[in-house]
Amino acid sequence: MVHCVRVAREDGEAARQRLAERDLVDGSHEIRAEDGTLYIPVTDPAAVPGTFEVVDRDVPRRETETMPADLLDFEPSYERLGDIAIVDEDDPERARALADAIVASALPVETVLNRASKVRGEKRVRDWEVLAGEGTETVHREYGHEFALDLAAVYFSPRLATERHRVAEQVSAGEHAFDMFAGVGPFVVPFAARGAEAVGVDINRTAVEYLRENARRNGVADRVTAIHGDVRDVVSGSSRAQRSDGVRDVVPDYADWADRLVMNLPHSADEFLETAVALAGEEAVLHYYDIQGEDDPHGPGEAAIREVAEPEYEVTVETRHTVRSYAPHELNVVLDVRLSR
Ligand code: SAM
Repeated sequence: MVHCVRVAREDGEAARQRLAERDLVDGSHEIRAEDGTLYIPVTDPAAVPGTFEVVDRDVPRRETETMPADLLDFEPSYERLGDIAIVDEDDPERARALADAIVASALPVETVLNRASKVRGEKRVRDWEVLAGEGTETVHREYGHEFALDLAAVYFSPRLATERHRVAEQVSAGEHAFDMFAGVGPFVVPFAARGAEAVGVDINRTAVEYLRENARRNGVADRVTAIHGDVRDVVSGSSRAQRSDGVRDVVPDYADWADRLVMNLPHSADEFLETAVALAGEEAVLHYYDIQGEDDPHGPGEAAIREVAEPEYEVTVETRHTVRSYAPHELNVVLDVRLSR
């Protein structure tokens, strides 16, 4: 089965062109026509603009296209991020064979990177082994938006695309949305594209530079404020956030400002809950990401939020959702929590 965009036959060419402009047409499979409907295979369903319907369909492979699996005697595993293929191989021989097969295949990949460490440190960046190509910078497309980023300098995971889209779909025009750990802007940009006034803070200066670039690239710079600094310094009149050129910015006080807060710093979000509560307005929705054991994945986060937000706010957990499995017996989860003063 292959991910395909389903469109009426008369809309097929326009759809194919729109998908091709975004490098999303999967050239290794045939476009299939059935009963007035076209099925256009796509490389990355998460990057397909939301106006298209994506379905799984049995479509024939194109005879002429060679895929990595055709060149290997093991089933390859890799992720795509723009023109980069990401692999996770400990065995150097297997890593070499996989990289060679990816480069030799029909995939539009320039660079192959092997994970060389876990994400670590405050900036949540990992080390990479460059197996093929040069550099670690790319432009990734996700749900119709473009994100320039350098994997060696910033955090980014394409695996969170569906989750980010789930949150973005809740955003309304005019609302105040605040991403406390914004990275290169994969929440901030779609929020602004839906008409929100969006603020993103990150302690990683390079991430904030990409966030500004990505706001421009996606035509939403007028609704995005990107701030470099520790998010704890952005409330209560403090002006310690720094611009990328090292000059200290006078940051407006965002206390009581936010209608929506995103906290995607799963291992230590609880340490920032006082800041989140200070940022929250009369009524706010908090998207709180956590990593916990599978026995009670949502309980510790909910307890931590209640501990800090009550009694000033009434706390209602609207969604308890598992984003993905993180490690054996550990889950990456999210709580959507309404805070009402
Ligand atoms: N929201 C982004 C995404 O989904 O790709 C990035 C999430 S990443 C897990 C967490 C981000 O928080 C990193 O970019 C890191 O630099 C930033 N960070 C860590 N501590 C911070 C702090 N005290 N204040 C602001 N940002 C911080």
